[in-house]
Amino acid sequence: MDTKIVKIKEGHIDGALIQEAGAILKAGGLVAFPTETVYGLGGDALNPLSSKKIYAAKGRPSDNPLIVHIAEFGALAPIVREIPENARKLAEKFWPGPLTMILYKSDLVPYETTGGLDTVAIRMPGNRIARELIRAAGGYVAAPSANRSGRPSPTLAKYVAQDLEGRVEMIIDGGDVKIGLESTIVDLTSDKPMVLRPGYVTRQDLLEVLPEIEEDSTLMRDDSGQAPRAPGMKYRHYAPKGDLTIVKGVEEKVLAYINAQCEKSGNKKTGVIGTDATVRRYDADVCKSVGCREDEEAVARELYRILREFDDEDVEVIYAEAFDDSGIGQAIMNRLLKAAGHKLVEVF
Ligand code: AMP
Ligand code: MG
Repeated sequence: MDTKIVKIKEGHIDGALIQEAGAILKAGGLVAFPTETVYGLGGDALNPLSSKKIYAAKGRPSDNPLIVHIAEFGALAPIVREIPENARKLAEKFWPGPLTMILYKSDLVPYETTGGLDTVAIRMPGNRIARELIRAAGGYVAAPSANRSGRPSPTLAKYVAQDLEGRVEMIIDGGDVKIGLESTIVDLTSDKPMVLRPGYVTRQDLLEVLPEIEEDSTLMRDDSGQAPRAPGMKYRHYAPKGDLTIVKGVEEKVLAYINAQCEKSGNKKTGVIGTDATVRRYDADVCKSVGCREDEEAVARELYRILREFDDEDVEVIYAEAFDDSGIGQAIMNRLLKAAGHKLVEVF
């Protein structure tokens, strides 16, 4: 299949191109597009064949459900059994934006889209290109991240093309994404609302609206012996090709440990994910900074791009500094831990 790659600016949206993309989706085709979190691989969420195509294009296991993207609150009622009060409150505060809610699905949503579950994940993206496209497509677009399964989510259109060129009808290049990590997922079908995946909308943010919130115990550990509540979280994810280890501890010890490991790595090409304050002091073959440690938003935005750059440069062994796991840091550490298959070394 030939993939048409088009550029659209969020501040100046080309209506004709959006209509063309919408028509592809309505006809059961696939279009990759920018959202404020990461690039999405879109198909008509109410068409079971489109969902099957999404799984095939990504190489994604079909028990890993898709998030349905909508463009206005009015589109929610038809696809869910009911709208609980908590969902209303969360939507009012965080939509459009990087928050996904899990609710019981209505019969309109095919099981192909929900990976066989009776619940459905729903989000209203903040990016205007995304919302215009969803409207042009008929209102419901299933869109997992636009990467081949297991790879870091794409934060630039060039990485979408790297993974999906020839597998989708169109890629919309909308430039940089603003957030860089996938949405926060909150399950509203259990007794108490529960965070299934941390993201830019933090636990503290959610507690401004909800009286209480639980957390899936598997988010930051892999020793709980339980399966994650979001089926997709059980897979190795976001992973670069190189072997990644996270190193946690005071700065000087981390530096010393990583440099000693790099020295020992023989003729393997080594890489380090450091921060502005430390990056110049590493001796690896490729040393990259994700930015200033205090600026968590910037770290979130840079992380996946840097993981992909290590792939581009064929780095074989990678060490990353750890981050505080509160606030947005929790999402950063959750993704890093998954990318590393939970390989974490603590140095004291
Ligand atoms: P992605 O679209 O690549 O960001 O991945 C979607 C994430 O949402 C995966 O981790 C899924 O397992 C999770 N998810 C989607 N639908 C549901 C659902 N109905 N229940 C629980 N988790 C879900
Ligand atoms: Mg993904």
